[in-house]
Amino acid sequence: MIDPGDHRLRQREYLLQISRAITAQLDLVSVLSLVIGFAVEMTAGTSGLIALYDEDGADELRIRASARLPRADWPAFARLLSLPLGDLNRHGEALLREVAADTGLPLRQMIALPLTLRDTPVGVIYVFRAALNVAFSLDDYQVLQDFADQAAIAVSNARLYQSVLREKQRLDATIEQSADGVMIIDGRWRITTFNKAMEVLTGWPREEALGRPCAEILGIQSAQGTNICLVDCPLQRMPFATNPVVEGRLLTRDGRELYVQSRYAPQRGAMGQFIGAIANVRDITAQKQDEELQSTFISVISHELKTPVSIIKGYAGTLQRDDATFSVEQYREGLAVIEDEADRLARQIQDLLDVSRFAAGGIRLELADFPLPALAAAVVRALGPASGERFELELRFPDDMPPVHGDYERVRQIFANLVSNAVKYSPDGGTIRVGGWPEGDFAVCHVADQGAGIAPEEQAAIFRRFYRVDNRLRRETQGSGLGLYLVRAIVEAHGGRIWVESQLGKGARFVFTLPLGRRQLAE
Ligand code: ADP
Repeated sequence: MIDPGDHRLRQREYLLQISRAITAQLDLVSVLSLVIGFAVEMTAGTSGLIALYDEDGADELRIRASARLPRADWPAFARLLSLPLGDLNRHGEALLREVAADTGLPLRQMIALPLTLRDTPVGVIYVFRAALNVAFSLDDYQVLQDFADQAAIAVSNARLYQSVLREKQRLDATIEQSADGVMIIDGRWRITTFNKAMEVLTGWPREEALGRPCAEILGIQSAQGTNICLVDCPLQRMPFATNPVVEGRLLTRDGRELYVQSRYAPQRGAMGQFIGAIANVRDITAQKQDEELQSTFISVISHELKTPVSIIKGYAGTLQRDDATFSVEQYREGLAVIEDEADRLARQIQDLLDVSRFAAGGIRLELADFPLPALAAAVVRALGPASGERFELELRFPDDMPPVHGDYERVRQIFANLVSNAVKYSPDGGTIRVGGWPEGDFAVCHVADQGAGIAPEEQAAIFRRFYRVDNRLRRETQGSGLGLYLVRAIVEAHGGRIWVESQLGKGARFVFTLPLGRRQLAE
């Protein structure tokens, strides 16, 4: 005979073990196996099982754990599980006999209790006995109820844990797919989360970024070149600001230079202490360049357009003075200056209009076949009187140069811009060579000078809008930095390419391609 005191003690010991297992976050099936094992032992059963309803609300029970019931026999219990608990008294015994007959298991008596969670049934716990003569007592029901309650708590915990896990996975996926760089740091400024966009932005692979101090990975620099994140972190400087922002240059690990904006959402503990932050990092390089372009545009306009206007106004005012007499020669000179400056003004306005036309979606080309040598000769001739003495001008085209297919006026603009640059940026004169030859479907053309040349690191930039190389010539020559931008836009609108071959001090050779005439290609 078992001592009832002993029995109670053991039951308490088991329940304690189960609750420890639950808090140690053992997986649900292990906890349920523990519960059913102890429940069978404490109710003097032979075997038992725990079945749960699916979480999606289906009212079908599925066996999740058993004690001394081979897994292979689980399907035989299906008909028993499908019987509602209320009908067990009436039909349970007969069904149990059927299961026993099918499986050969000694199942003679049964006790079953629902597992309920806040009044909702989540499953059923069953214990079976082999003996026929000893019926389950009220006490047994009581004992089983305690284990059923523990099993229900385990189910509740597991489901909460699962939903937290799912929520976290969803959050992780949202962070990962965010188009902005997202980085989470802990209370010691170390990176704990680093999304894909952040990898692209900084050039740091996630595995290497995780665990490092954020100022090392996202060292945003001020205009003076100091690492703002290191010496002036806004999360430290303004500890109670809700969304501090840092903007500045970012040198990426793979050598790019970006302009970024990082917005922080600090997280605080119960005592207001800093426990971490979420940083949202955005590449605003294009926006910054647009702003710079805008301000360059305004300064260029004001300088380039105001200069000829004030010269014109100055000469017109002088020529009109009553208190001075001018010779015919002086009048002519004055009027010639006025005409030159008016032409310059008209060209500038034309360039600006062209730039905005290109920006708004390109220009319309009026295409035709025409010979290049005559066009180039006309451009060089137009330059003649002004630069003839300082420059040797050389035209080189093969005699059988085929016609090109393009917009005559725009192609003239290409040559005029390049030749006028060759003159402008060759302060000591020299030879200017203009020429071309056919190659495949294209005419390869060039305009070369022996002037100041262009350093390799500037060669891509000179084709950008408003870009002028910062040197002595920039101060001594007039220009808006639009010429080469337009030249490239026109060449590309024709389906061609343009590049420059040059070294500082050794002259520059601009090379570009234009499509050959249609008739030529058809032949
Ligand atoms: P702009 O002549 O009005 O400054 P461009 O777009 O025509 O504008 O040229 C951009 C810059 O490229 C010039 O400011 C100059 O620094 C450089 N550049 C252009 N052509 C030459 C050249 N032939 N030799 C040397 N530098 C040149």
